[in-house]
Amino acid sequence: MSIHSFYPPQRTLLGPGPSDINPRVLLAMARPTIGHLDPLFSQMMEEVKQLLQQTFKTKNALTLPISGPGSVGMECCFVNLIESGDKVIVCQNGVFGGRMKENVLRCGGTLVTIEDTWGTAIDVNKVEAALKQNPDTKIVAFVHAETSTGVQSDAQAIATLAQKQGAMTIVDAVTSLAGTAIEVDQWGLDAVYSGSQKCLSCVPGLSPVTFSERAQQTIKTRKTTIQSWFLDMNLIMGYWGAQTKRAYHHTAPINSLYALHEALVILQEEGLENSWQRHQKNHLALRAGLEKLNLQLIVKESDRLPQLNAISIPADIDEAIVRKRLLDEFQLEIGAGLGPLAGKIWRIGLMGHASNQRNVLYCLNSLEAILTNMGVILEAGQAAQAAMQFYVNK
Ligand SMILES: *Cc1c(COP(=O)(O)O)cnc(C)c1O
Repeated sequence: MSIHSFYPPQRTLLGPGPSDINPRVLLAMARPTIGHLDPLFSQMMEEVKQLLQQTFKTKNALTLPISGPGSVGMECCFVNLIESGDKVIVCQNGVFGGRMKENVLRCGGTLVTIEDTWGTAIDVNKVEAALKQNPDTKIVAFVHAETSTGVQSDAQAIATLAQKQGAMTIVDAVTSLAGTAIEVDQWGLDAVYSGSQKCLSCVPGLSPVTFSERAQQTIKTRKTTIQSWFLDMNLIMGYWGAQTKRAYHHTAPINSLYALHEALVILQEEGLENSWQRHQKNHLALRAGLEKLNLQLIVKESDRLPQLNAISIPADIDEAIVRKRLLDEFQLEIGAGLGPLAGKIWRIGLMGHASNQRNVLYCLNSLEAILTNMGVILEAGQAAQAAMQFYVNK
């Protein structure tokens, strides 16, 4: 028996990532592969760096995509900045803060944890108190946009507190970048990582990172070598740095970088602020429709993430069956809950290219059809109408 080519179906991806990819990005990937040291490839790398600086809103010279998914960007920030014995405060209010703790411990750091209930934002007062209690803190690490719960925390306020005490920040912007405001320079963030497959709507497997001047100095003046050879920024700079003659470090994921370049060009064409506004608009339209389906968002309004909507499951509904039917009958993917929220919420992502009116209406109609079919009493057509009315009034 021979194995044949794999042809995936055309789904609509409204989960926690990956998001739908603009066909322009997929076409960019199919362009001819050239060498990773080809002068034309170097020019393109410079453009990717520039476009990423614009997207992060930073002048940081050390801004580039790490070859690996968001988790690798996370690891990169921790292994470069933390030395054995360094004190790190990690704020946890969901899955990804938990991974940050794991990173600190594996780097030999001294961990101080601040916990907030899943579904709520990081309590800035707790950060202030923890800093007061731990004046020797080197780094405060937190997730800006918790994809596991649909919560946005106040990155600017947390960074301001850290700075007052001379501590640096490591910020997870995997889901926030391009979907919601993040201002690396203005807020004074030190090490920020993101991912290609959420609101950038690019193929998975790249992790944009940026390091402030202070973070770069910290990396250069470490007492111990970085335990990860692959993620040692001093070495990566030999390949990605501007002034250097590019030297082989690892083979760059060439065609994936074409894709990222195209995704960032598309973002530039739209305008970063316009992209933030589009995410907010579609989130509000979805919310208007969800109300008519009697589906509640679990996060309070001021902390809601426009690109990830966490919704409580109606009583007596088997949430996994709804997701399966959405996938099988509507080719529509939404996410399940994680950790303590498993079985309690659905996560509907409206990220990047997928954040549009068509998807909002499609999602509402699909959910309504399935819930009605499962015996929930709903007024037919009202959800989509409420969303449409929102768009008309806009
Ligand atoms: C998706 C995600 C990650 C991990 O990214 P991968 O590309 O899956 O490794 C990290 N943090 C947050 C907040 C995320 O949403």
